Parts: sequence; structure tokens; C-alpha cells
Amino acid sequence: MSRPRVLILGGTAEARRLADVLAAEAPHLHVTTSLAGRVANPATPAGEIRLGGFGGPEALAAWLVAHRVDVLVDATHPFAATISAHAARAAAVAGVELFALRRPGWPADPRDRRHPARSLADAAALLPVLGARRVFLTVGRQGLAAFAGSELDGTHFLVRTVDPPAPPLPRDVRVLLDRGPYTVEGETALLLGHRVDVVVTKDSGGAATAAKLTAARELGLPVVVVERPPSPEGVPEVPDVRGALARLGLSPAAADTCP
Ligand code: NAP
Repeated sequence: MSRPRVLILGGTAEARRLADVLAAEAPHLHVTTSLAGRVANPATPAGEIRLGGFGGPEALAAWLVAHRVDVLVDATHPFAATISAHAARAAAVAGVELFALRRPGWPADPRDRRHPARSLADAAALLPVLGARRVFLTVGRQGLAAFAGSELDGTHFLVRTVDPPAPPLPRDVRVLLDRGPYTVEGETALLLGHRVDVVVTKDSGGAATAAKLTAARELGLPVVVVERPPSPEGVPEVPDVRGALARLGLSPAAADTCP
């Protein structure tokens, strides 16, 4: 009998961890991770890897059928709304079980000076209202165009991305290339060193990049938080790798014990 097949839509630390744990603890499963191919030098998970888009939801459905996938795990980033919608549609068309591994957003703390924004454009519009002069912008490479408008010409942006961003960029910009995880000490030094007065982030959640929120809180800085896009309806969600293992009929404890 052939091994049950799992396709993980990846691009996150959780997706990578899930693939690694499955490779170590569930050799009876055939696991493939799909990466969009956006990052030049991605950290690669254990198991098989495929790279690049599928060509839309119908093509993804055809891929699921052709590769006899039994379970599709949408472990993409909470802001990767297009692929999540495609996954929901493709799984329905192909009759494949689907669940999402979606990390929770960062919990609010009463000491936070949070300003929610419904979109990147709303976040950009908030900056003059907050009197921002020096902004730490961590919204990903693809989100920078929203901050390139001439109304923000007098604002300095410290932008941090994994790969170099392409224009359009804010006019007064300094780019830092880096990949988490980050520490509170490091983020505090960065915010102080660059005399940042407002932080802008997406509500990505996760421990690897949470330190900037703690640092901003301790320094009393306002943080503009872009809210998540809605998830596709009717897709069951688990918050972490433990939940994903349970959903796959495995012991959640493997998430803690697997090296
Ligand atoms: P997106 O806007 O939701 O998806 C755009 C297109 O990229 C999809 O229609 C699909 O192409 C392709 N795609 C996305 N994820 C894929 C995957 N895992 N495997 C194969 N194809 C994929 O996605 P995005 O926001 O650009 O994010 C791209 C990738 O980066 C995702 O895998 C995500 O997990 C990761 N990521 C995103 C963010 C973020 O803030 N958006 C942050 C960190 C990591 P086709 O229609 O041709 O199939």
C-alpha cells in the first residue's frame, strides 16, 4: 500500500517545523512542502520540496489529484491570502482534506500603544496623524509601495526585509537586510540607535519577530498594527504544530520531543 500523502503549503517557520517533525516521527507519511520561490535563499524543510506557483486554484486542484494528495495543510503566512483562498477552492474541487496551520496574532498588552490599521494604505495614512518622523517599517518587501507616496516625503523609514526590496520605495529610506529571530535587547538597541518614533508591522504573530513589540512597549513607542485579511470560510484551523500533528492523527507531544 502506498504511503498517505501530505502537501504542506509552506513559507513559514511553522510549516518548516511541521515538515521536519513529520520526517522524523511519521515516516509512514509521504510529505512534500510547496514554496512560492519568493525568497532567494529559503530555509528548507525536511522531505520533498516543490518550488513556484501552481498557476491558480484549478491547477492546484489538478496537482493534488495527479500527486494523489490525501491531506493538504495550508501553513502559509497569515497575510498570504491568495494562496489560502486557492487552497480552499482546490481542496473542494479535488475532494482533498484541508486544514490550516495558522499562528495566532500577537496578543495586545494594556501597556501597548497600538493603532490598528485595516490595510497597508491605512497604516501609511496614520503616520502623519501620529506625527511620525522616523518609522521602523517591517511589513515585508512586497508591502513597501504603500509608503512610497509623496505625502510621506518628510518621513525617514528604516525598512527591514529578508531580501533586497524593489521600487517603489519611500523616498527617505534605509534598508536593513536581516532574518529573525530577534531579541528584545537587539530590537531595543535598533529602535534607540535609529531614533525611531513609530513602528509599523503586520499582525503576523509568532515568537521569532515578537521582540520588536516588547521593545516598542518598553520604550513607550506607538505601533501601527496592520490587521490580518480574513481566512477562507469553512477551513478548520489549528494554531500550532502540535495541533497539526493531532489533526494528522499523530501525537502532539512529538512537536516538543523531536530535535
Ligand atoms: P499570496 O499573495 O497569497 O499568493 C500569490 C501566489 O503565489 C499564489 O496565487 C500562488 O501562485 C503563489 N504561492 C504562494 N504561496 C505558495 C506556496 N507555498 N507554494 C506555491 N505557490 C505559492 O502569497 P504571498 O503573500 O506573496 O506569499 C508568498 C509566500 O511567502 C507564501 O508561501 C507565504 O507563506 C510566504 N510568506 C508570506 C508573507 C507575507 O507577509 N505575505 C510573509 C512571510 C512569508 P499560483 O496562483 O500560481 O499557484
